[in-house]
Formats: sequence, C-alpha cells, structure tokens
Amino acid sequence: MSTTAKTEPAATAAPSEPREESERCLVCGAVLAEDQEWCLECGAARTVIHAPPDWRIGLAIMLAVALVVLIVLVLVLP
Ligand SMILES: [Zn+2]
Repeated sequence: MSTTAKTEPAATAAPSEPREESERCLVCGAVLAEDQEWCLECGAARTVIHAPPDWRIGLAIMLAVALVVLIVLVLVLP
C-alpha cells in the first residue's frame, strides 16, 4: 500500500455566499436600496437592524451622573 499525501483544500467547505453588500428583503429577497424603507416587490417593511441601544444610553447617563456626583462630593468634602 502506498500512502499518497492528501492535499487538503485551502478553503474547507467555505460557503460561497456573497456578503450582504446591499440589503435585501427578508421576505422575498429583493434587493433594497439604501433609502428604500419598504420592499417594492412584496411591500414588506424593511427591518430596522440598527435600533438605538436604549439600555446603553441609560447606563451611560447613570454612570455620568454618578461620576459627577462623586466628583462634587470629593470637591465639597474637606
Ligand atoms: Zn420583499
């Protein structure tokens, strides 16, 4: 038996799916323009992916207030 060196493919089972360069309708898959708010093919509303992270904003505000209070306390205290 001769052992032949198996040459492994460089890309192992890489799905050749195109990166989402343009947004597509999640319902019918039609390409949506950037300023397109709904699909012209099926009329489905475009999903808002970049929703404002409310909890982060609230946390940031709370941290900022706490920091200001802490600084004021440190400055006021003798
Ligand atoms: Zn659609």
